[in-house]
Amino acid sequence: MKVRIHKGDTVEIISGSADDKGKRAEVIRVEPEDGKVVVSGVNMRTRHKRPVQAQNRQVPAGKVRFEAPISMANVMLVCPKCGKATRVGLSHEGDKVSRRCKKCQALIDD
Ligand SMILES: [Zn+2]
Repeated sequence: MKVRIHKGDTVEIISGSADDKGKRAEVIRVEPEDGKVVVSGVNMRTRHKRPVQAQNRQVPAGKVRFEAPISMANVMLVCPKCGKATRVGLSHEGDKVSRRCKKCQALIDD
C-alpha cells in the first residue's frame, strides 16, 4: 500500500467527530498496515489507570489522555505550499516516489 500521509505532515480532519472535524494538526504516527494515522490532539481518548505497585514505587491512579488512531480516509494532507487541504498525487522517478499537491501541483518535500 502506498502511503500518502507521512509522519510530521499537517493534515485536516475531513470527517469524524464534530469536535475534530476541520481541525488541522500534525501527524505523530502512521500505521500503514491498518491504514491509520495518529494526529496530535485529534480523537482523544481517556484511559483510566489503576494504581499499581511497581519496583517499590507507588504509581498513582489517574487518567491518561492519548490520541487514538483514525482512518487515513478521514484526513487530507495540508499542502505546505498553498495551505489547502488536498488530495495527494504520487509521481515516480526511478525508485523515488514524490508527492504532489493536486491543487497547486507543487512537490511536497518529505
Ligand atoms: Zn498545494
